[in-house]
Amino acid sequence: MKLFVEADVQPEVLAGERIAVLGYGSQGRAHAMNLRDSGFDVVIGLRPGGKTTAKAENDGFQVLPPDQAVDGAGLIAFLAPDMVQASLYEAIESKLKANATLLFAHGFNIHYGRIEPRDDLDVVLIAPKGPGDLVRRQYEAGRGVPCLMAVAQDVTGNAKARALAYAHGIGGTRGGVLETTFGEETETDLFGEQAVLCGGLSELIVRGFQTLVDAGYQPEVAYFECMHEVKLIVDLLHEGGLAKMHEFVSETAKYGDLTQGPRVVDEHTGERMKQVLKEIQDGTFANNWVAEYESGLPEYTRLMEEDLRSQIETVGKELRGRMAWLRE
Ligand code: NAD
Ligand code: MG
Repeated sequence: MKLFVEADVQPEVLAGERIAVLGYGSQGRAHAMNLRDSGFDVVIGLRPGGKTTAKAENDGFQVLPPDQAVDGAGLIAFLAPDMVQASLYEAIESKLKANATLLFAHGFNIHYGRIEPRDDLDVVLIAPKGPGDLVRRQYEAGRGVPCLMAVAQDVTGNAKARALAYAHGIGGTRGGVLETTFGEETETDLFGEQAVLCGGLSELIVRGFQTLVDAGYQPEVAYFECMHEVKLIVDLLHEGGLAKMHEFVSETAKYGDLTQGPRVVDEHTGERMKQVLKEIQDGTFANNWVAEYESGLPEYTRLMEEDLRSQIETVGKELRGRMAWLRE
């Protein structure tokens, strides 16, 4: 593993270059504000009439339509949603200056060939391992969120140095920048969110809740056990891995964990995880997602409504209303 830190940065490779940030959402706003505070000349590219235009203007940025924002920019950060990036690239390609750097925060469009950049451009990735508000708050506190870095196309010979200078500008070198590839970042990011984080964890919670409710226990008690207390355990895991969790839970919880956990998540789950990963690797998931997006999100909308109408959501809303600290 190679970790890049502040001492590895060559700030001169980006000095005096204008940076166009396309998109002003979670990542876009944080990157733009950190880069500006690091002394860069930043312009924001957004669709005229888009929702976040006023926010960027109130934050003191110049906002232009994307094809004007990239005009003269030495580095263009693609921080619009993944599903609009391909058409966004088409709209700006002819305005990109020779040898400019395209920068992504997730490798999806490059890795799956949805964007095929002009061959005079450097193409790099800087992916902070945290949401935008953390990227901003840590920067303001003089710290930084660790980032992944990758290079897909290096025409100038400076692609990696330019990526690192950008990571430095958003505070990433304070946390450390880990080198990877577009393929590794894309496939592991998709797998993590599908199998473990958003997908796996939420299904585990909902199934646990349903098991208790179906057995006749009160939904409110089931909610506390299966949803509410997840945070306690996740915080321990996040702070100190399995060891810290074991340190803070009871002996009975530890014995139950070690003996019963592997019965719930077993080799069959492992086999299905491999299948999920295979469909990420062979492009099946990406093709399905693009097709779903392009047909107006019918399945996505149906499943989302089902999720939000479920009993755990109704019960949770009621109980969380009594937790004053959640409103702070
Ligand atoms: P977001 O949904 O929060 O914000 C998207 C922004 O793009 C908004 O300002 C929106 O108005 C703008 N936009 C929408 N369509 C546009 C268009 N056609 N042209 C120009 N601007 C347009 O997005 P996000 O979550 O910050 O994600 C941006 C990128 O960062 C993605 O590649 C994502 O995978 C990656 N990423 C996100 C996170 C995260 O925590 N959210 C973490 C790491 C990487
Ligand atoms: Mg779910």
